[in-house]
Amino acid sequence: MTAPLVRFAPSPTGYLHIGNARPALLNALFALRHGGRFLLRLDDTDAERSTDVFADAIAEDLAWLGIVPDLVARQSDRAAIHDAAAERLKAMGRLYPAYETQDELERRRRRQLGRGQPPLYDRAALELTEADRAALEAEGRRPHWRFRLDHRSVTWTDLVRGPAHVDCASLSDPVLIRADGSYLYTLPSVVDDAEMGVTHVIRGEDHVTNTGVQVQIFEALGHPVPVFGHHNLLTTIDGEGLSKRLGHLSLRGLRDEGFEPAAVRSLAVLTGSAEAVRAVATMDELAALTDLAQISRAPAKFDPHELDGLNARLIHAMPYAQASERLLALGVPDDRAEAFWLAVRANLAKVAEAGDWWRVVAGPVTPVVPDPGFVAAALAVLPPAPWDGETWKVWTGAVKAATGAKGKALFMPLRLALTGLEHGPDLAGLLPLIGREAVVARLSGE
Ligand code: GLU
Repeated sequence: MTAPLVRFAPSPTGYLHIGNARPALLNALFALRHGGRFLLRLDDTDAERSTDVFADAIAEDLAWLGIVPDLVARQSDRAAIHDAAAERLKAMGRLYPAYETQDELERRRRRQLGRGQPPLYDRAALELTEADRAALEAEGRRPHWRFRLDHRSVTWTDLVRGPAHVDCASLSDPVLIRADGSYLYTLPSVVDDAEMGVTHVIRGEDHVTNTGVQVQIFEALGHPVPVFGHHNLLTTIDGEGLSKRLGHLSLRGLRDEGFEPAAVRSLAVLTGSAEAVRAVATMDELAALTDLAQISRAPAKFDPHELDGLNARLIHAMPYAQASERLLALGVPDDRAEAFWLAVRANLAKVAEAGDWWRVVAGPVTPVVPDPGFVAAALAVLPPAPWDGETWKVWTGAVKAATGAKGKALFMPLRLALTGLEHGPDLAGLLPLIGREAVVARLSGE
């Protein structure tokens, strides 16, 4: 295979959600697996609904997810290229003007359905003479433009689905250009894919029918047809599709809730694949697990709550370097941040929770001392500085010898006195971070 060029082509009309992360990632991982490149193409031909705010947010959200596009393009910059292709199709008679209003089309559809016929466009516009068209235009009508399909089956070998076909005889000639001159998605997408050299079109299975149409457009324009792959769509457990309405599953919403991009990636990609959903830390590891041919054809049902477990598992193994910036932002001092991270990460579900444990380390805390005598005995055998990872063991050994306490009766009063809490990270790690002076103060109730 020559180096592939894949693309992710969202319309900048909303924020990306976890359902969009799936095609974005499947494309990026395919490029990674095959030494290819990734194009971010903003399908912004709908000028009214597309905004720069959403375009910027898409790039930002992809970066957060771990995707840095090799190329970025906007369809709105490429209108002249789309126009040239449209003119070629018109000249070939593949793109023809039609003048029916929505109401007229709707009435016709109802008549066809009433007669038990499929509601297909009847191609009445192909019968119009020059004079008919002039008369319609004189009435003030402006044409929309339809692509004249060849009534044949289009077949391809799908990267996900294997042998695939669309019977174009069962489709209406699709409208490519609206009456106001604006393009629907279908033609610009083909033109850009062809002109930019996209080799593999990997997208959701909601586009299978489009592929039948678009293959015919590639062929009509004399362009090589790319390889197609249509993946199953992420749905919620009850089978509901994801829409932009599900704001809490927007990528920025998930980021703001403190989820790691790797957790979102793992869920978005591994759900509905042959691999078990598990926490995969890096794009490279995920790429190694992602074989489009192994993706299931059933809907990829997922439970957003799985993110909690994935996130926690990632954090428990997360190297300090990946958390350092966020720890410093939480106020953890640079010189103690690494030791602190290693001491607390096993107790975290989200990185931000480290802030709570830093407050326990830095104090002030309110010690809980149900048995002052025991704590006084512990204070009396507190090892001298300097302290390290062994100090806790040495100290609790000495407390045990002095008081005879063991197990929970030994550890719980110390934990309560030092942290004010019944649960928390291993004290062997926290003790040197709290430091001898503060430990003395907490044990003596100062
Ligand atoms: N803009 C289209 C969409 O968001 C792109 C589909 C495709 O990948 O071709 O659905």
